[in-house]
Amino acid sequence: MDYTIKTLLTRETVENRIKELAKEIEKDYQGKELMVIGLLKGSIVFMTDLIKEIDLPLVIDFMSVSSYSGTTSTGVIKILKDTDIDVKGKDVLIVEDIIDTGLTLSHVKKLLIDRGTKSLKICTLLDKPARRTVDMKGDYVGFEIPDEFVVGYGLDYDQRHRNLPYIGIVVNK
Ligand code: 5GP
Ligand code: MG
Ligand code: MG
Repeated sequence: MDYTIKTLLTRETVENRIKELAKEIEKDYQGKELMVIGLLKGSIVFMTDLIKEIDLPLVIDFMSVSSYSGTTSTGVIKILKDTDIDVKGKDVLIVEDIIDTGLTLSHVKKLLIDRGTKSLKICTLLDKPARRTVDMKGDYVGFEIPDEFVVGYGLDYDQRHRNLPYIGIVVNK
């Protein structure tokens, strides 16, 4: 398909906002050790920027989950890669690229809480509240965006454009 990418959030805008989020997180987790879990692959660019700005002891880990499927309203997810480190008793911060319907995060959140996290919060670079089908809120949200398909800063279109240093809207020609 023939398409172009129209800038929605510039590199400078995104980088500045990530620094603000990091400082908020740093303040909220004083005296604690954070376990930052990135959801692959979309979170990686955001997560690397974010953790460099958090001046706290922290460990990182990753999970990879498949998209939900099926016909029920809640769907199911499959774990393709689980965390290496046990989350039990940890102050966990899930890092995600975007909350869309909210289904992925509602499943991951429940799974990790069931494993006995001490606390669990969600940090997302982008939020598309218009598309929500389940009750899901990010604790730290970079930007609320309109209901458009976006790429860049880790987000892909058919696995491409994850390396774009800004967020753009895919526009059909
Ligand atoms: P959910 O609908 O479960 O909240 O979102 C699941 C995943 O869909 C996100 O983590 C992201 O990978 C993908 N997604 C949702 N909206 C967009 C978008 O606008 N652009 C891209 N590239 N991926 C999206
Ligand atoms: Mg994702
Ligand atoms: Mg994707």
